[in-house]
Amino acid sequence: MELELVTIGNELLLGFTLDTNAVEFATALTEAGVRLARTTTVADDGPAIRDAVVDGLKRTGFVVTTGGLGPTRDDITKKVVADIFDAPLELDVEYLEKLRERFARLGRGPMPETNRTQAEVPRGAVKLKNRWGTAPGLWLEGAPGVVVMLPGVPREMNGLLREELVPRLKKRMDGGDALVIRSKMLRTTGVSESALADVLHGVDEQLAPVTLAYLPNPHGADLRLTAWNVPASEAEAMLERSAGVIQPLLGSWFYAEGDTDLAEVVLNGLQQAGHKLAVAESCTGGLVGQRLTAIAGASAVFVGGVVAYDDSVKESILGVPHDLLEAVGAVSEEVAEAMVDGVAARFGVDAAVAVTGVAGPSGGTPEKPVGMVCLAARVGQARKVTTVHIPGDRDGVRQRSAQAALNLVRRLIP
Ligand code: ATP
Ligand code: MG
Repeated sequence: MELELVTIGNELLLGFTLDTNAVEFATALTEAGVRLARTTTVADDGPAIRDAVVDGLKRTGFVVTTGGLGPTRDDITKKVVADIFDAPLELDVEYLEKLRERFARLGRGPMPETNRTQAEVPRGAVKLKNRWGTAPGLWLEGAPGVVVMLPGVPREMNGLLREELVPRLKKRMDGGDALVIRSKMLRTTGVSESALADVLHGVDEQLAPVTLAYLPNPHGADLRLTAWNVPASEAEAMLERSAGVIQPLLGSWFYAEGDTDLAEVVLNGLQQAGHKLAVAESCTGGLVGQRLTAIAGASAVFVGGVVAYDDSVKESILGVPHDLLEAVGAVSEEVAEAMVDGVAARFGVDAAVAVTGVAGPSGGTPEKPVGMVCLAARVGQARKVTTVHIPGDRDGVRQRSAQAALNLVRRLIP
């Protein structure tokens, strides 16, 4: 592995300061077995810094800079490098708070506003902890390559070099920190892919270099975040940060991470709230019960269900009034409510869900078309009834109905 160093500062070129950083840097890299291919010294000047970094990236794909990370006007390294990566500078509020605390702790009075810029971080950059000063080191990785920015103050530069940079370079070399591709899934339901895309409009830029993919399926839309070719040690944190950006935007559509099934979320939620659950299913024919019992430990919450397919069963087992069925038909919110109350009473539980709908392909009418599904749920005193129109074939309607039923329960859990 090889890389280039760019030391930045007018004082170095004017001869006022001996470039000890270059010597320290070369020593540490040689000890670590990393080849320092070239050192360039440039002034505190945007175009000069840019040229040196871009050229270094072209040659080795990896450039380290020292200097120009401070809070003053001549400290422009961060801005220039961020531009090369097309990464806007963003205020890291958490870090700003730490800076303020640091000033308070050292009894230096309130932090000068100029220090604010030190809490600005190029989007996608990883901060390297600076225990010796206020400016964190910055590791920025993307299409142009890797640029690591270290402060110019020798003590700080040296600390970061020995404690943060060299260990990372070593890991990178011996494969302990090989570049990896890692993903994280955020699951949503009850929302269309296009509505999700609206809500997440423009978020992609905030996530970069992590990418976002929409994966619609019968259970909803999963969002897959992927970190491409990043050091293994940083992948998790990058994905975590991205999830933290997206999740608040998803509101109650979000129900789980990874491959967790909604049924598991429902069972856990009900268990924590101290409820037992029964189901009454018509068009789903037991799918809801199947989803629930597929989860190990379901028996702590799920007591059982009735597949009330024929109206006679809705009447005799669930106590749905004959007159009601005659008056409004089996696929109606009224009957769904009667089913949910009936099954809750039958099983002596206070949480229940009922599904009745037209799965198709036949049996649809203008008022009750194929895909019309009425759902009712209760959790304690909370109750909700709703009608959804589900596109797709018979299997799709049944799968989506079961998911909608589970989701209705989830939304009622306090
Ligand atoms: P600061 O927060 O102090 O502004 P900085 O990261 O912006 O830090 P500079 O402003 O470039 O760094 O330099 C800070 C101090 O470190 C100056 O006194 C400077 O002379 C010294 N310094 C900078 N670069 C080097 C170097 N390559 N070798 C030795 N000393 C250096
Ligand atoms: Mg400075």
